[in-house]
Amino acid sequence: MAERERLLVVIADRELVNLLERSVLAPQGYRVTTASTGAAAERQIKSRRPDLMLLGDDLPDGDYLDMAARFAALQPTLPIILFTRQASPSIPLKVLRLGVVDWLTPPLRPDQVLDAVRQGLERSKHWENWLKVETRRYTGPLQQRVNELEMLSKVGRTVTAQLDLDRVLTTVVEAAVELTGAQEGSLLLLDETSGELYMRADLNFKDEFVRTFRLPVRDTLAGDVIRTGKPIFIDAKDPQKIVTSYLVYSLIYVPIQIKGRSVGVLGVDNRESGQSLDKRHVPLLSALADFSAVALQNAQLFSETAQERNKLGSILTQIHDGVIVMGRDERLLLVNEAVRKAFELGNRSVAGKRLHEVFDHKDLIRAIRGELTDPYRVEIQVGDARVYSVQVTDIHEVGIVATLHDVTYLKELDRIKTDFVNTVSHDLRSPLTAILGYVELIERSGEVSSMQAEFIRRIQMSVRNITDLISDLLNLGRIEVGLEEDVERVPLSPILQYAIDGLQSQLVERQQTLRVDFARNLPAVSGNPIQLRQVVDNLLGNAIKYTPSGGAITVLARKEQDQVILQVGDNGPGIPPDEQSKIFDRFYRASNASKNAQGTGLGLAIVKTIVENHRGRIWVDSKMGRGSVFTVVLPIAED
Ligand code: ADP
Repeated sequence: MAERERLLVVIADRELVNLLERSVLAPQGYRVTTASTGAAAERQIKSRRPDLMLLGDDLPDGDYLDMAARFAALQPTLPIILFTRQASPSIPLKVLRLGVVDWLTPPLRPDQVLDAVRQGLERSKHWENWLKVETRRYTGPLQQRVNELEMLSKVGRTVTAQLDLDRVLTTVVEAAVELTGAQEGSLLLLDETSGELYMRADLNFKDEFVRTFRLPVRDTLAGDVIRTGKPIFIDAKDPQKIVTSYLVYSLIYVPIQIKGRSVGVLGVDNRESGQSLDKRHVPLLSALADFSAVALQNAQLFSETAQERNKLGSILTQIHDGVIVMGRDERLLLVNEAVRKAFELGNRSVAGKRLHEVFDHKDLIRAIRGELTDPYRVEIQVGDARVYSVQVTDIHEVGIVATLHDVTYLKELDRIKTDFVNTVSHDLRSPLTAILGYVELIERSGEVSSMQAEFIRRIQMSVRNITDLISDLLNLGRIEVGLEEDVERVPLSPILQYAIDGLQSQLVERQQTLRVDFARNLPAVSGNPIQLRQVVDNLLGNAIKYTPSGGAITVLARKEQDQVILQVGDNGPGIPPDEQSKIFDRFYRASNASKNAQGTGLGLAIVKTIVENHRGRIWVDSKMGRGSVFTVVLPIAED
């Protein structure tokens, strides 16, 4: 006996129990446990699961038939042999409905007891075997479904975790073959140019066959699937020739679709007769085809993104302008070839390093940090010869992008032009002085008619205009060179006061009112007093010149943090909005400027250059017909 059967004897009569156990059952090798009440028996059933029960009618805690019913409910396959003290003329109907296999009454004969036990155990084995078979019958398909789902989820994971298209498609084909129990599997894709199908992945096909496989879409099963977008299932009874030398008995083909368009076919087949595929597997294969569609789409998107990135990459590397991209923490993300060349970085790796670790150029770093005067457009000199205009842009979700445009040639052109203007201006001065001298001599050398006197006056006025222009030009040329000498602490209040005093007579002449508001102790700025005076003279002069008689002019100045703000305003004609940025250019005069207002168009260019040389900023706020306010911001001199 491999495993000894467990018998549970549930009888209150001790003597009878002992007799049964010792003399009858144990000698036969049964493992016997006993219980003298119904409740104890119940506990044993739950904990031990006996193979058979001998149940007496003498239990103190209830009717034995009720108990038998309870035990049968607890363990339906438990065979029960009843022991009653008296023979019963008939078997109560109730007993038949329980798991009772035999009924013994005195006098008890050991062979009779053992017979009943053996038969009971036999019967219980039958039941159990039957139960196993039935369970398998029910759980078999379930298990298969579980396997299928596990396989699908495995393929799903591969699709999402893998960018390697070959791996994903091979996994799909392998899963298709394994799930359907087919012999071969293939994944065919449509070649858009030739319109033929080729084998992109396979299982159990010969290499040579795969390499040379080409299938037209017309008149082929796979082609039908592509055209109709519907799966095909072929049974083993009727073999089908798919292409020459490719004979199958059973087959499933499902379409692989991207955005509703069939791009390929996933197929499994059997070449041997008698091995049918299961139609039930069609939806499963369709699910696998969907996975391969996702993988194909991912691969396509990935390669498009990579292509775009390469394109952008080569644009960035090849353009002449320098590009520096960094995060807001100043860690570099990208530096293009032009920047590498300009700053002699060679092939040094820069990604992830901080701006100041890579670039040993104070002005560049200050420009990118927006610490220079005009935070959006500044010029820096690199090496001895090159000048770059640096433009900094804050791009959302990217970081800070600085572009460096080489303006060396513009600077050079500008210098040549300035040199030329300076030379010409110098050379013009002496003949003009001579003209003025001689014109004066005409009046002194004899009587002139009133008409001649008027002509002389006009000549003098024109020559004076030209002289003004020339001195403005020379002035600008000098100022543009920069502020290298004559830098001192310049208190601003006296400068403002002298300028106002100097223009007082013009104000009176034009009957304009002047409102002045600034403290006597405005802080000093560091710079050149003559040039700063020029700034105020020019702005105030313009306000007086362009505002009609009777107008109102204001001069305001105040300290704000570490800067001084100076504002010269008027209620004159204003400046057209699209011209406001141009009036600071050389020779530019606004289109609405009064014809009577003489000028060269150089004044504001000179003012702007001076202000910037003093590390300041200037701008205008103006409304047509309402007036203009010029604002100058200058940093206060450090102690
Ligand atoms: P100009 O010698 O012509 O005065 P500026 O460079 O000083 O040259 O000024 C350029 C132009 O800006 C002027 O021609 C004028 O059209 C305009 N402008 C300057 N100041 C004012 C102002 N206060 N009101 C209106 N327009 C002004």
